[in-house]
Amino acid sequence: MTAPPDLTALAPQPCAKCGAPAEVIKSGSNRYWVQCAKFGRNGNCSAIGLQANSRKEAIRNWNSRH
Ligand SMILES: [Zn+2]
Repeated sequence: MTAPPDLTALAPQPCAKCGAPAEVIKSGSNRYWVQCAKFGRNGNCSAIGLQANSRKEAIRNWNSRH
């Protein structure tokens, strides 16, 4: 295993609104986004990141908005 060069982009930061862990959602073959663990039916938080074509980019979108 080779260490990824950009570790900070591989782990979403906790939700800036409620502090819950964030989770990366994958839909289809190449659609990703990050949302709060308490988003939608899991709670009452509305934090959700922009969609991207890669997990890394989705996490970057999330982290840059928080
Ligand atoms: Zn939240």
